[in-house]
Amino acid sequence: MSEPLTYYPGENPEHPGPLGRYLPPIPEGVGAAWLRERLSVGAWVLEPFGASPRLVVEAARAGYRLMAAVNNPIARFMLELHANPPTESELRTTLADLAVAQKAGERLEPLLRGLYHSECAECHQPVEVQAFVWERQASAPSSVIYHCAQCNENYERPASAHDAARAERFASGELHKARALERVTPLDDPDRGYAEEALAMYLPRTMYALVTLVNKLESFPLAHRRSLAALLLAVFDQTNVLWPHPAARQRPRQLTTPPRFLEKNTWQALEGAVQSWTLSLGSPSPVPVTLWPNIPPESGGICIYEGRLKDLTDQKRHGTGPIFTAEAALAALPRPNQAYWTLSALWAGWLWGHAANAAFKSVLHRRRYDWEWHTEALYSAMRSLNVLLAPGTPTMCLIGETEPGFFSAALLSAELAGFDLQDVALRLEEGQAQILWRRSEADLSERHPSAGARAQNLPAAIQTAVQDHLRQIGEPASYPHLQAAALHSLTQSHRLLASDDPETPAAERFKQLSAALEEAFVRPNAFSRYGGSSRSLDTGLWWLPGEFAQRRAVQATEPRTSLTDRIETEVVRTLQKVPGITLEQLDEILCVGFTGLFTPSLELIQECLESYGIEHPPGSRTWQLRPEDAPSTRRADLEGMKSLLSKTGTRLGYQVELIETEDGHSILKWLEPGGPAASAFFVIASAMIGNIVFSQHGEDLPTRRMIILPGGRARLIEYKLNRDPRLRSALQDGWQLIKFRHLRRLADDMSLKRENLEKLLDLDPLANRDPQLPLL
Ligand SMILES: [Zn+2]
Repeated sequence: MSEPLTYYPGENPEHPGPLGRYLPPIPEGVGAAWLRERLSVGAWVLEPFGASPRLVVEAARAGYRLMAAVNNPIARFMLELHANPPTESELRTTLADLAVAQKAGERLEPLLRGLYHSECAECHQPVEVQAFVWERQASAPSSVIYHCAQCNENYERPASAHDAARAERFASGELHKARALERVTPLDDPDRGYAEEALAMYLPRTMYALVTLVNKLESFPLAHRRSLAALLLAVFDQTNVLWPHPAARQRPRQLTTPPRFLEKNTWQALEGAVQSWTLSLGSPSPVPVTLWPNIPPESGGICIYEGRLKDLTDQKRHGTGPIFTAEAALAALPRPNQAYWTLSALWAGWLWGHAANAAFKSVLHRRRYDWEWHTEALYSAMRSLNVLLAPGTPTMCLIGETEPGFFSAALLSAELAGFDLQDVALRLEEGQAQILWRRSEADLSERHPSAGARAQNLPAAIQTAVQDHLRQIGEPASYPHLQAAALHSLTQSHRLLASDDPETPAAERFKQLSAALEEAFVRPNAFSRYGGSSRSLDTGLWWLPGEFAQRRAVQATEPRTSLTDRIETEVVRTLQKVPGITLEQLDEILCVGFTGLFTPSLELIQECLESYGIEHPPGSRTWQLRPEDAPSTRRADLEGMKSLLSKTGTRLGYQVELIETEDGHSILKWLEPGGPAASAFFVIASAMIGNIVFSQHGEDLPTRRMIILPGGRARLIEYKLNRDPRLRSALQDGWQLIKFRHLRRLADDMSLKRENLEKLLDLDPLANRDPQLPLL
């Protein structure tokens, strides 16, 4: 029986800090919250990847002992810096020392700043360039970005002949390039050619500045060498060509020069590094860090294993370690990133020389960074983790950039490696997935697909799983969401372990799974689709096939309320129960109520909160149910509306009939005397229109069908219609929405007649931002 997982929202870090664009973007506090709920402090936790320094440090700070296997020396350094941050004054002193250090009798600061001299295009005064803008493969910069003190203005102006000439002067800087190479790979190293390719990420002037700085490292006062390395690491990333211009929110994955990019001022990057480290790390108390086999104190800390998890497994097999039992595993799953891994090998060489880099620099010649390859890599790591963990050990993995390939790679590799998936909690709008496994109680050889699972082919099994899930959520969903539901279901029956050949490699199984997913979704009559293109499954929304959905609706005694509407109900209930609640508290409560694949989006919670709640007092961030939404007030409103409708109908010469349906709706009908119904009105206080427009009473209703609701629901309904094309098209099929206020006005309007009824109804659009919405 699998265990449901509550999504932990956490908090997005305000300052991602140096190298943040390569690290898994996961919220803070998630790992610590998850551990606190299940382990007592002092327990050992295994971190198999060490991809997120924040996650490891946060868990150690919460009182756990983290064993982190970190193969990448840059990732190790990041981890040490996060655990024991240099203070701002330490960084400032380091920068000051560096500024007065000398090269050939000249001080470094004026020397390096001098590389970026230019002239203001407006007033012709000397300026220091912040960045040159380059077009890919050009031989000179195209424009210059600077602040002119004389004009007191920020400018981007075309580069002059002088700027071109100065850039040209560095183009023949072979000496510096050779020095930069030598730090990474000695002359006879077979990886030297790959290191040289990676150096193309730096322009010659930058290379000159960086080598000048790196040359200072070894003679730098020992006390500040670590701070200098921290500053240089940040500068190494700031000054490469992976900064497109104009700036785009971008997380580089490949070493590809953007079409237009910045050559940033190296000295200014150093100054920026002081601030960036200070803001992102703050000044918390340090966390103890040891190198394996030394272990941190029971009060919490980090034990770094400088190698791959597999080596640790071998030690365990030979009885030479590890001496602890991890009570949980926790990780931010790394995604393949050629840029980060290759640059890490370069940077590690620059900071510590090629000897320190020997074990890691093999990443330089790695050429495959696709999902198939990644499945294989994850599988290998998870196999090692399986050996290191006791049966049943909970294993939580966080993904910060969820996409279908990543998801298949993660779920497939863990399943193959002997981990039983418990649950997956998703917030796809934020790219987040939180996945809980347990190290299987059974040995790898004892895990088999159930007989039923084996009988059904993979595409058919996927189709069934996805249709079941759609029925449960009662609304269309995106491909990534449904893919997660499919994989969740397939792992429960171990269907993914079935294969004609048990030796099939993980990468091959990834390919088979991707093909089966594709086949399941594009099968004729398997699903209906809203939007999207035939080229990609990952666009538009998916729903049950038309014929199938209808048959279900007729059979169903009660239509399944959509997940969105269930969440709305819960928000209202919570606001009633907990006056003075904050959005964050509400979010947590909702995530407990709707676990795993049912986790509500924060946006939906916010929309519901704004519809039913009022911030009281204003600016306090605490919310209460709006007075007009108090249950007694709304009951009175509903009765009032029914009575108005009834009076107005009678006045217009109709017979009025009130039906209370089994599912709790009040339908008020206006009938021609002795004849058919002319209008039907549904009076509601919520934004839950789905149950009305999809319910089967639709069939005996007249063409004029109206839902009467409070004006306060308009925005929430608009939000729902924008998200759910199925709801939108059902509503467009002859429904009108009327606000309470408008109905009151109509009832008071003595000029109202049967003839002008339509026109008067049209006068008060509920939401007029989108003219296509039938909201009146
Ligand atoms: Zn100027």
